[in-house]
Amino acid sequence: MAETCKACHDPLTLTVDPDDSGVEDEEQTVPDDLLLPCGCHFHWQCLLDQSSAITSTLACPSCTSYLPSNTSGGSSSSSSATQPPPTPVILTTYTNEGGIQPSLDIYPSLAEESFLTAHPEARPARALHTLAAEGDIQGMVEILTDADEDGPNSDEEATTTPLTATQLLTWRDPLNGGWSALHVALEARQEEVVWLLLWLGSAARREDFPDAVVQVAGAMELPRRLEQREAGEEDVRFVRDESGRTAGDVCLELGAPWTRLVEGGLFN
Ligand SMILES: [Zn+2]
Ligand SMILES: [Zn+2]
Repeated sequence: MAETCKACHDPLTLTVDPDDSGVEDEEQTVPDDLLLPCGCHFHWQCLLDQSSAITSTLACPSCTSYLPSNTSGGSSSSSSATQPPPTPVILTTYTNEGGIQPSLDIYPSLAEESFLTAHPEARPARALHTLAAEGDIQGMVEILTDADEDGPNSDEEATTTPLTATQLLTWRDPLNGGWSALHVALEARQEEVVWLLLWLGSAARREDFPDAVVQVAGAMELPRRLEQREAGEEDVRFVRDESGRTAGDVCLELGAPWTRLVEGGLFN
């Protein structure tokens, strides 16, 4: 008998919407088989749906086996009591449309999903960081515009207050060293994104921006959000990550040509 998903008991395939696959009038199925170290199989999404329980118990939701391969359950032989426990590693074998991925550590995906379930307001912020790393300026502007339009009175279930655009710009990612979007853009060396974030989220002087940046920002009608700063609004230049680094510190670490941003007085 073929294995089925331990959560929903359906076959370990995923039906692809015919509209997306390009094939007319024919549903296509692709494999979607996540094999845990205990031998239980799940659909990818069915397992992620239980991420909060798994990240707290580190146990298989079906057979309750302890899943991590790198830590022993509970008892720690570590000599130092102050050392944080190592991040669990849960090695799985995942088979999908793209083939087989042996030894795929699913823990980071579970931790992210578990965090986002508890903090739904962080979803657009995480998306903004992904786009910053990819250099997708248009996508970033869309997220910020949506945030401006989504007031506290949006018709989504108001269990949490959505972040404002200014809050998105200075949001620090607890899953990624407390980095802001500007930290992410600098580490990914996305120069245009760096300028975008400084334009939108800092009170840096207009004359410190290159002419080309001023022209593009004008053409896109991008606001200088902090030129008339309201109380409590944070400047992206002064957001510190978990290591205490501001964006200026990251520039100095990256070296030339990024050090020029600091030397030019932009971060003063
Ligand atoms: Zn399932
Ligand atoms: Zn299991």
